[in-house]
Amino acid sequence: MKTILDLSKQELEAEIKPSFRAKQIYQWIYQQYVGSFDEMLNLPKSMRTELETRYSLSPLRVLKEEQSSDGSKKYLFALHDGLSVETVLLPMKIEEFDEDGQRVHHTRYTVCVSSQVGCKIGCAFCLTGKSGFVRNLSAGEIVAQVLFLKKLNNIDAARRVNIVYMGMGEPLDNLQNVVKAVGIFADIDGLSISPRRQTISTSGLSSQIEKLGSIDTGALLAISLHAVDDETRVKLMPINKAYNIKSIIEAVKKFPIDMRKRVLFEYLMIKDVNDSLESAKKLVKLLSGIKAKVNLIYFNPHAGSEFGRPDEKDMRAFADFLNSHALLCTIRRSKGLDISAACGQLKQRQQNELD
Ligand code: SF4
Repeated sequence: MKTILDLSKQELEAEIKPSFRAKQIYQWIYQQYVGSFDEMLNLPKSMRTELETRYSLSPLRVLKEEQSSDGSKKYLFALHDGLSVETVLLPMKIEEFDEDGQRVHHTRYTVCVSSQVGCKIGCAFCLTGKSGFVRNLSAGEIVAQVLFLKKLNNIDAARRVNIVYMGMGEPLDNLQNVVKAVGIFADIDGLSISPRRQTISTSGLSSQIEKLGSIDTGALLAISLHAVDDETRVKLMPINKAYNIKSIIEAVKKFPIDMRKRVLFEYLMIKDVNDSLESAKKLVKLLSGIKAKVNLIYFNPHAGSEFGRPDEKDMRAFADFLNSHALLCTIRRSKGLDISAACGQLKQRQQNELD
């Protein structure tokens, strides 16, 4: 049965009569977190029954929930056809000062969503890629991951979360459903998560980056770059044969970027592969003229991995070089963020920590 979460509010308005009920239904689902149509008390009983027969409200079922030491939580969700996907909730403690100068603490949540079951890209450092591609997730299956995580963790409906499309799959290989999900997330009667709180992360499908740019969803862009020359990048990401570094940079330069935002470049540091100062110099040159931010991520070797973790001092020297050349750069230390930063490591890192 079709899930109602697949429908944008405009589509729902077209499907039900009278159409003003779509707004109420959206609010029940995304702001009241109801578990059944029967709880939608301001709808006539006949409409609740009709909705029940036409749509499912829960396209996911929790199979497994695991919490890591840094507070991040991984969920394994079963889909209607028995396949499964992973979603990660990353809480981050924030300290701020209120108007009276008092310290206040609150938690900012980021949800790392999957966009496909499996992945076609086949990056050398990734477990998801190794198991191959199975199918795209529908928009509703993407939306449900965030809705379920908010509900399961009692995160108030009014509390906005950030979304990163960095879980399983290549989001731009499922462009249509990802773009639709961005819009459903943003609906004011729904979860109301602005596109500027949503980051679409890609392995660098240049033509799809251009397509996404022309649709101009307002979502932010992250590129998993991981290397500064084609020879190295092909070894890590064979997709580079089809979309080389030059084509990615050209596509990024055309991408519409919010005045206050930057394009994020994820760089998985691997010992003796891409961690030299020579690489740092090339990176600065490559990204010149782009409003960019670089996230350096420690590679964490897993059993059987052919790659090694970089030395702390090389990481520091790399970061210092970028920062001293006006290229904004951060090193991701938090375990949870390490997990989210490189989609392929998500499954692997969580598994290592939680097994
Ligand atoms: S790292 Fe991401 S893009 Fe690469 S194979 Fe894994 S899931 Fe696909």
